[in-house]
Amino acid sequence: MLNIVLFGAPGSGKGTQSAKLIDRYGLYHISTGELLRDHISKGTELGKIADSYISKGHLIPDDLMIRILDEVLNKEASVKNGVVFDGFPRTIPQAEALEKLLEKRGTELHAVVGLEVPEEELIDRMIARGKETGRADDNIDTIKNRLEVYRNQTLPLKDYYSKNGKYLGINGSGIVDEIFDNITDGIDKKTTLTK
Ligand code: AMP
Repeated sequence: MLNIVLFGAPGSGKGTQSAKLIDRYGLYHISTGELLRDHISKGTELGKIADSYISKGHLIPDDLMIRILDEVLNKEASVKNGVVFDGFPRTIPQAEALEKLLEKRGTELHAVVGLEVPEEELIDRMIARGKETGRADDNIDTIKNRLEVYRNQTLPLKDYYSKNGKYLGINGSGIVDEIFDNITDGIDKKTTLTK
């Protein structure tokens, strides 16, 4: 059982590396961004609320986001085998809530993998992704807001998780498979799991 947070700015490669991590370790993937986009495309009530924040590049309020996560953890039996949290937590209150949610289920967070990528590269990647996928929040104005929100509200988590020894900083620029090898080496060292 392994619970990992994949942490990083928008465009840092969290989705790509999550897919590889769930394969390697047999984990359940929870991407809060994907979950919200799914609600938006289905036109649910939650989707309408989420869209009003996402389209501006703002975060969904903590209490709502935490409630959604709690529900997913209750609903999905396979979370018992371990989870990759992709895009959650994004604020200190979310990080504190995650600790409690895991503790309530008799488990804990094992590592926080931080994908570190220079800002210019993040912008280039998101612009390219917007063109490829049509993702609505990958336009330059929303990207700038998302990066500012990241710096102000999410980046403090790096310090938070460094202090409790869970943070594992990884250079997120370069070749996907090499980045993945660095991630798994780091996780295996931190958790003494064998690959
Ligand atoms: P992502 O796909 O992780 O880049 O998330 C896309 C958007 O969904 C973000 O810009 C936020 O508006 C929203 N979102 C995703 N995860 C969270 C979260 N943990 N807390 C608040 N908002 C979130």
